[in-house]
Amino acid sequence: MEVREAREVLKLYFGYDQFRPGQEDIIQNVLSKRDTVVLMPTGGGKSVCYQVPGLVMPGLTVVVSPLIALMKDQVEALLANGVNAGYLNSSQSTKEQQLIEQQCLDGRLKMLYVSPEKLLSAGFFSFLKRLQINLFAIDEAHCISAWGHDFRPEYLQLKNLKLQFPEVPIIALTATADRLTQRDILTQLYLQDPKVFISSFDRPNIHLQVQPGQKRMEAILDFLEDRPFQPGIIYCLSRKATESLAAKLKEKGYNADYYHAGLSAAAREQVQEKFLQDNIQIMCATIAFGMGIDKSNVRWVIHYNLPKNLESYYQEIGRGGRDGASAEALLFYSLADVMTLRDIIMQGENSKEQALSIAKLDRMQQFAESTSCRRKTLMHYFGEEYNKDCGHCDICDNPPTSFNGTEYAQKILSAVARTKETIPSAQVVDILRGSRNQQSLAKGYDQLKTFGAGRDVPAMEWQRYIHQLINQGILEVAYDEHGALKLTNASQEVLFKGRKVELVKFQPPVAKEEKEKRQKKSRSGVETALFEHLRQLRKQLATERNLPPYVVFTDNT
Ligand code: ADP
Ligand code: MG
Repeated sequence: MEVREAREVLKLYFGYDQFRPGQEDIIQNVLSKRDTVVLMPTGGGKSVCYQVPGLVMPGLTVVVSPLIALMKDQVEALLANGVNAGYLNSSQSTKEQQLIEQQCLDGRLKMLYVSPEKLLSAGFFSFLKRLQINLFAIDEAHCISAWGHDFRPEYLQLKNLKLQFPEVPIIALTATADRLTQRDILTQLYLQDPKVFISSFDRPNIHLQVQPGQKRMEAILDFLEDRPFQPGIIYCLSRKATESLAAKLKEKGYNADYYHAGLSAAAREQVQEKFLQDNIQIMCATIAFGMGIDKSNVRWVIHYNLPKNLESYYQEIGRGGRDGASAEALLFYSLADVMTLRDIIMQGENSKEQALSIAKLDRMQQFAESTSCRRKTLMHYFGEEYNKDCGHCDICDNPPTSFNGTEYAQKILSAVARTKETIPSAQVVDILRGSRNQQSLAKGYDQLKTFGAGRDVPAMEWQRYIHQLINQGILEVAYDEHGALKLTNASQEVLFKGRKVELVKFQPPVAKEEKEKRQKKSRSGVETALFEHLRQLRKQLATERNLPPYVVFTDNT
């Protein structure tokens, strides 16, 4: 009965003919007044899961949402659909708040969004007690978990909801699926016999690729050449990096800006708004950017630095391609990033937390170094079955072949052995390649027998083979010595006891001329001319930096 009503509500208020997979079961569970946990990827359609039952049941639905900007968007969208909704948060005047409160008391409001701060403010619970509440929805529920990356201390107090309103069902929703976070959501909210719904986390339209982190600026410019006007996000580890990267891109004529938690709330809201409205093409940001932001046409997401775990990675790349059209996720990986992240983790005080974070970082690193289908690795991490290769990642595009790499391994290992000290991987590569740079000469590496023994193999390729040896336990990373390489027992076996080593052949990224040739082939004459025109404009723009590229583009065509 109610389910049919739910379908009518979906059509009436949201204009959709059918539920997406999962939504209907979730709504049914909510309508039967049971507590519910929803794990659904970003863009999957979580809002409908509480909005529809909230509209079907008599009374008011209270939605707890962590971001003020987001709240406003949601309420405006609901109002536009004919749902009487409102919000309460610290950005409003007392007058505005009173108006909404009165609407609640009159029973005119159907959906009330509140910030966690507001919910916990003095007297608010006794206000809520005077209302007929049919459901509490906790959006972005992972914020309750200290294991997660968006931990909000105020969310911990949400346990009072169940204590104060034991008869009102709760639905908690998130796009972050890791098991510990799930457990925290269940326990901290005191959910009663909750039903947990996990939708597939696969986002098949996102193409996944990983590139070595050496020369990442060049790689980014190369990447952007193919996407001169597509909106995208570049995630950096530090605030400073977001600023300098945005500056460099601006210098090259791109319409880029930056976002991090060090900016004032007003400044953050402003750049965010510009990005949403396509007035900024490239957002260089820390992880502070993006939670819940509903911009459907983000065409690519670059991780300038390695994220600290796969949950963050997946959530961040999930901001691309929300409209279902294809999107690109490019991750840069270097051991130096792993070291930085380790250092950050080790600064923490709680040793249990440290161990967990390190374990998660290790999984992140394994993903970056993996030579099997990326999506398979990810889906397995999130506990989903995935038995085929995805056909939509760099590994599937270019399946690696293995070869007898014993000789390569021996060259690497003896370079490490001969330096008598622990040595970072970049310097091992310098030795093998015979690079006469300052450091090599100062340390006398040019006197080693292995100096230049691997000139015929590009640096990037050596770097990858070193990673593979580490993965196979044939080399070790000395984390207490700034990530220097150390020999292991297995190294000795390879060097002296004839142990064989299988390596996966490194597939170099397609060379630039080759790429251009391919593009020319696939583009029509008009497209090629247009593309060339864009390139010229881009150059021109670099000199007239103050003009936003969109303006220049339309003026010239
Ligand atoms: P999430 O909160 O899970 O990231 P949203 O609730 O913002 O996702 O929904 C993402 C998009 O999917 C929205 O544009 C929403 O209107 C749309 N959507 C949700 N449910 C349906 C449905 N049943 N049919 C079609 N579109 C839907
Ligand atoms: Mg949402």
